[in-house]
This record gives sequence, C-alpha cells and structure tokens, in this order.
Amino acid sequence: MMGSMRATIIAVGSELLGVQRLDTNSLRLTAVLDRHGIELIGKSVVGDSEAALAAELRRRASESELVLVTGGLGPTADDVTRPAAAAAFDRSLQIDERLVDHMRRLFESFGREMPEVNRKQAEVIDGATILKNRRGTAPGQRLEVGATSIFLFPGVPRELEAMIEDHLEPWLTDHPQAVGHGLETGVLKVACLAESALEERIMSAYDRFGRERISVLASPGDIKIYFSARGTEAERRTELDEMRQVLGELAGDVVYTDRDEDNLETVVGRLATAAGKTITTAESCTGGLVAERLTRVPGSSAYFLGGVVSYTNELKVQLLGVSEADLATHGAVSEPVARAMAQGVRSRYGSDYGIGVTGVAGPGGGSEAKPVGTVHMAVAGPGDDYVEHRVVRFPGGRDRVRQQTSQLVLDLVRRDLLRRDLLRRDGPDQDGE
Ligand code: AMP
Ligand code: MG
Repeated sequence: MMGSMRATIIAVGSELLGVQRLDTNSLRLTAVLDRHGIELIGKSVVGDSEAALAAELRRRASESELVLVTGGLGPTADDVTRPAAAAAFDRSLQIDERLVDHMRRLFESFGREMPEVNRKQAEVIDGATILKNRRGTAPGQRLEVGATSIFLFPGVPRELEAMIEDHLEPWLTDHPQAVGHGLETGVLKVACLAESALEERIMSAYDRFGRERISVLASPGDIKIYFSARGTEAERRTELDEMRQVLGELAGDVVYTDRDEDNLETVVGRLATAAGKTITTAESCTGGLVAERLTRVPGSSAYFLGGVVSYTNELKVQLLGVSEADLATHGAVSEPVARAMAQGVRSRYGSDYGIGVTGVAGPGGGSEAKPVGTVHMAVAGPGDDYVEHRVVRFPGGRDRVRQQTSQLVLDLVRRDLLRRDLLRRDGPDQDGE
C-alpha cells in the first residue's frame, strides 16, 4: 500500500482567536478529507500576523503532504496569507495584471469601480497555480513545496464552499493515495438513559470493534453513539451495518433512531402518522415546550391537535377538569394531578394520546417533599384505562429540567407507539404462519 497522505489545516484570522467567531471552515474541510480517506493530523488557528503564519506554514508543510489554509486573502491590511506563504517558502510575490483586469471587470459588472486596495488580491506566489473563485474577488492559490501541496482558500464560508467543489474535490479525486479508504460515520441516538448506564451496556463493542471507532456524545436526556468505518464504500457499508446492529442490540430499546437528522419529535411524528394516532398536551412547568417540539416537525398537524399551558390551579380545573379536591389534597405537583391532566386533555379535546406534565422547574418553589427538579409526567393513551405515570427528580437548572422533562415524556409516547406498532406487525405474521 502506498503511504497515505496526511493533512493539516490552518484557519487564519485574529477574530477566530477571540470569542466572536468560531472556526467552522476546518470542520467543512475535515468532512471532505474524511470522505477521501485522508488523515487529518493537526489543525491550528493563527491570527493575522505574517510572521506567525509563515512559521506555522513551514511547520505544517514539514509534517504533512497536504496543507489547507483558509482566510487572510482579502484586500485589507490584516490579510497576510499571500505574503506569509511567500516568505515561508522564499518565493517572490508578483501582481498578475490579468487577474487585476479580471477583478476590475468583476467590479464593473456590479457597477462599481475597483478600489486600489484590491490590487493586492492579484498578488501571486511564484510558481503557484491560481484557483478561480466564482463567489468572490479573492482567488485561491495552490503551491507545491517539496512533496507537500499547499492550498490557500478564502475565509468566507460560502466562497470556501465553491472552492472545495471547484478545486479541492477534483484535485483529491486525481490523487490515487486518497482513494478507497474513506471514513464514514453512523449514529444511534438514545433517549433518557444515563451515560454510565449506556457505557455498561455497550462496553463489549469497544473490544470487538476498537475503542477509537466508537464515541459517545451525551447531552441531557439524549446521547449519540457515533461509530465509524474505513475502507472502500462496500467495506464501509458492511462494517457500519454490523456495528449498527451490534450496538443497537446492546443498547436496547432506548435507541430511538439511527438517523442523524432525527430527534424524538420526528420519530414520534413518524410513528403517530403510521398508526393514525393523535396527540394533545397539557403542560405546566414546561410551559408548552412539549407542544413546541412536536410542532417543529413539518406535517405535525396530521397528529398533533393542540396543547394547553395550564400554569395555575384554576386553569388546570377549568381547561382540563382536574379536580379541586386532588389539587387540595396532593398539590399541583403530584401523580393524581399529572394523571388527571393527561386524561383531561385527551378526553376533552378528543385525541388518542394525552400528555400531562407538572413539576418544579426551579430555581424557586422547591420544598423538602418536592425539591426543585421534581416532575410528574403522565401519558394517557388509546384505551380509556391506560395511563402511564413517571415521577423523576431531574438534576440541573430550569432549562435542563424542562428539556429533560420534554425528552422523557416524548419518549414515553414513542415507546407506547412502538409497542403497539410491533404488536400490529406481529399480529398478521402469526396468523399467516
Ligand atoms: P477573510 O478571508 O480572512 O477576510 O475572512 C472573511 C470572512 O470569513 C470573515 O468574516 C471571517 O470571520 C470569516 N471566516 C474566516 N475564516 C473563517 C473560519 N475558519 N471559519 C468561519 N468563518 C471564517
Ligand atoms: Mg481575515
């Protein structure tokens, strides 16, 4: 096998060192490298300093065969990528008058005269190939230094996008080292399980597939398991299928999807649509978050009828039919009230599922019996006697409590829809065999 190509990325711009702007260009470039099976061995952010950038260019060129630079090709004084690259590799820098003419015409086509400062964008490093920029005035450049190819790209993300398509992708495709070892990633998303509990379930997959190929990213109430495979397209597919199946079986029914674009509300939406079931919500401490999430999904009107935000006891009584006696005896944050909310919204507004949520989101309002984070959730489902109830004490501040509540209650609906879906599928099979 030929020695594989190593790449590095340099993002140029003092704003990227500050708190105002995040370097996203390197992520875009990394995705391209991954697809072409090129290993990224390092990336850096350098401010608008010619000396610092020249030093970084020399360092990266000595350790990698491909250096991708973005930013610093503009017309202003802080744009130093061209002179820095020339200095780094002892090359001269000369204005290309044909490029100046081209830029002048570009400005004229917008009805403007080209400012003189833009002339410096036509400076070309000795021996470099000019890379046309169809979305801006600053052309890119590619230069070869020993065994290393260095690409200078503009920093504006949408210009970079065009440069990737027009210049980087074709160049990578022409380079045989790159072909056939692409990296591809699969995902499984898990709802409402602690990260450590998930870790215990899937640990054996680490030995089987390699620890570095599986990464677990956790956020409150939601965990993503990413897994990756290298190889030809066919090899990657086979491996990813196997990993998906093994990890899915180990993790169990907490896995709600294997699509990156899914979240709980899209999955609930798909299941509800397939089953022809409708949903209503009655929310107190989440203030409509569950309804908001459900309605984020295009087409949710097919299964979501509406929701009630009943913050006060009065509205819980008036709009949902919660009994005053239950409120007086058990308090608003209690199992009977959560159940009554779910049942009330379901029966009053005529849906298959009713969701009821009542809790103490904090930071105030907690008590010894019901500390901050205590939430009662209920789901009334198809069939009048079916009401599921959960009480949880969520950690974290108000936002986290609300987020995790919406996550858990949507997961309860998902599980019920899934259970019914499986029953339905099993039914005809058993009859037929
Ligand atoms: P430049 O090409 O350095 O003049 O950058 C032009 C614009 O693109 C500026 O608004 C930058 O903040 C933005 N930009 C430059 N580099 C990056 C980067 N690595 N990621 C995201 N945006 C960037
Ligand atoms: Mg800049």
